Amino acid sequence: MKIESKFGGATFAAIFFLLLLAFSFPALAQTPPVSWSPDKLINGAPCVFRYKPVTRLKSLTGSFLGKQVFFAFDKTNGIWYGLAGVDYDTKPGSYDLALNGVEASGKKLSFAQIVPIAKGFYRTSALSVPKKYVEPDPADVARILQERDLKNELFGKVTSSQLWMGNFLTPAATNTSSEFGSQRTYNGKRQSVHQGLDYRASTGTAIHAINSGKVILARELYFEGNCIVIDHGQGLLSLYLHLSQFKVKEGDTVNKSQLIALSGGTGRVTGPHLHLAVRWQGSYVNPATLLGIKLP
Ligand SMILES: [Zn+2]
Repeated sequence: MKIESKFGGATFAAIFFLLLLAFSFPALAQTPPVSWSPDKLINGAPCVFRYKPVTRLKSLTGSFLGKQVFFAFDKTNGIWYGLAGVDYDTKPGSYDLALNGVEASGKKLSFAQIVPIAKGFYRTSALSVPKKYVEPDPADVARILQERDLKNELFGKVTSSQLWMGNFLTPAATNTSSEFGSQRTYNGKRQSVHQGLDYRASTGTAIHAINSGKVILARELYFEGNCIVIDHGQGLLSLYLHLSQFKVKEGDTVNKSQLIALSGGTGRVTGPHLHLAVRWQGSYVNPATLLGIKLP
């Protein structure tokens, strides 16, 4: 009885009130207004932001790492979805996702969500390729520069609308061999970062679109070999390199999992395989992370 009197009536009332509060507003504690997948972001990761507003919005846009995030509304669950990504060179730290919405009444909604970004750990590997890919002759240099302009122009255009739908799926029914983000030396000289995910694929393996979208490039390039680029909207592109045969052409609309090409060993390769790359707003991001994100 003495112990009980130490925890006076006031303390007991306060504890009771806190418990009451916790049970009355479980939604507040469980569903933060903005969430994302994967839930732990690192440099080089693509991501999907989700926002479920309390009142209905007419529009929603965001800004993240100096780039615009385009959101699309899913009527079935009342959630806005926006694709984004963290550049490989982004330093660890806390970054703002700034959101700007317009309510049905015309009232503007504007707030920032802090998004922590941790350091990703990537490996180092050494490769040997034909000399012309490390020290191209003047004619090849001219071609490389021309293709760089073409890619800059192509990658500079951003489709804000959502062309993708649901989960991103694997492009080939094979295992992966070389992961995204490893530091590479070619013939012991040039160093670069592996900006895609390699799949083991002997020449002629069926390659499928990882999601729906529009084919914005289907042609042979110096380093990439036969290459396809699909625009999925919201600033996200998927690239398929070193192909032997095209099954689609520039301008085509493709469905998720549609056969788009056969794999090969064209361009700067050590042997036949598929190099899958994913770009969001000018940054290459990890395809494996994108394929692992669960979407409705
Ligand atoms: Zn590769």
